[in-house]
Amino acid sequence: MAQMYYDQDANLDLLMDKTVAIIGFGSQGHAHALNLKESGVNVIVGLYEGSKSIPKAESAGLTVKPVAEAAQLADVIMVLLPDEVQKTVYKQKIEPYLNSGKALAFAHGFNIHFGQVIPPAEVDVFMVAPKGPGHLVRRTYQQGQGVPCLFAIFQDETGQGRDRAMAYAKGIGGTRAGILETTFREETETDLFGEQAVLCGGISQLIKTGFETLVEAGYQPELAYFECLHEVKLIVDLVVEGGLANMRNSISNTAEYGDYTRGPRVVSEDTRAEMRKILSEIQSGEFAREYVLENQSGGSMLRSTRRREAEHSIEEVGKDLRAMFSWLKKD
Ligand code: NAD
Ligand code: MG
Repeated sequence: MAQMYYDQDANLDLLMDKTVAIIGFGSQGHAHALNLKESGVNVIVGLYEGSKSIPKAESAGLTVKPVAEAAQLADVIMVLLPDEVQKTVYKQKIEPYLNSGKALAFAHGFNIHFGQVIPPAEVDVFMVAPKGPGHLVRRTYQQGQGVPCLFAIFQDETGQGRDRAMAYAKGIGGTRAGILETTFREETETDLFGEQAVLCGGISQLIKTGFETLVEAGYQPELAYFECLHEVKLIVDLVVEGGLANMRNSISNTAEYGDYTRGPRVVSEDTRAEMRKILSEIQSGEFAREYVLENQSGGSMLRSTRRREAEHSIEEVGKDLRAMFSWLKKD
């Protein structure tokens, strides 16, 4: 098994006499900034003038500076902006302040791996990527736990880059859960593949197509919603808790038989071939080029699809049904 590292393997002292700038205060940014601060690290948050996040960060007791000033003051600069704006902000407001010995850090490898951000040779470049959304990184930390993280070193100029990355992971609570070493290439390619083929693209399309098939055949949309969307979570929880066998233990023998005999027809050898194609588009940089172009031209495809998808009948039915699920709101 690959080696996991825990609290005792990382030395937080390496960050104690340093200033860490967290650029961005969104999902990951707020969690990293607050967790590091409570771990005793000197944190400043870098935001653009007029950002709605300024009062939020300040009322949480954090020091806020304009991005360029934060980058100038900091020894470690963690870039937690949306991936598609990182290149521009980096060029204008971070790169000019990357003196020798500083560290530039990311939570996802896209911009470094695909050459959107090309850091100078005299800085450390590392990644600490929590394998969970920011609110979970924050909440688990407050509960004395953490979210597992990946970490990777792209450049280790000071010779301390790897130790600093591990210290950073400890500061946000990652080593409480365990951290795993990877490379920028591996993290970027597997992350993109996972979200495209399985987690986001695959699951959404599976849910929608199942729902549409039932509704089109005349069944009630509410039932179709329960079967094809709502119960996904119940099944996935069983899989995550104890693997596929655990899930198959809890379902009926009828469901298990249907699983074995029909599943491979839904996700078939054709699907496998398409998954391989999707992976090779990621590896060749074709997907990255397409996404960079989409953003350069204003993100119109993303916006129009977002609008169209929001109007799908599964969303309408879902809104009404969820409004009646008092038990859903408890969490
Ligand atoms: P987000 O969209 O939640 O937050 C981005 C922040 O950047 C916001 O505070 C926004 O106001 C600010 N911002 C946007 N444009 C800006 C600009 N031009 N100048 C200054 N600030 C600007 O982003 P996120 O989801 O936290 O993602 C940040 C990074 O973390 C990305 O690299 C992402 O791939 C990575 N990541 C995200 C998750 C996740 O679950 N959200 C998980 C792992 C890694
Ligand atoms: Mg991901």
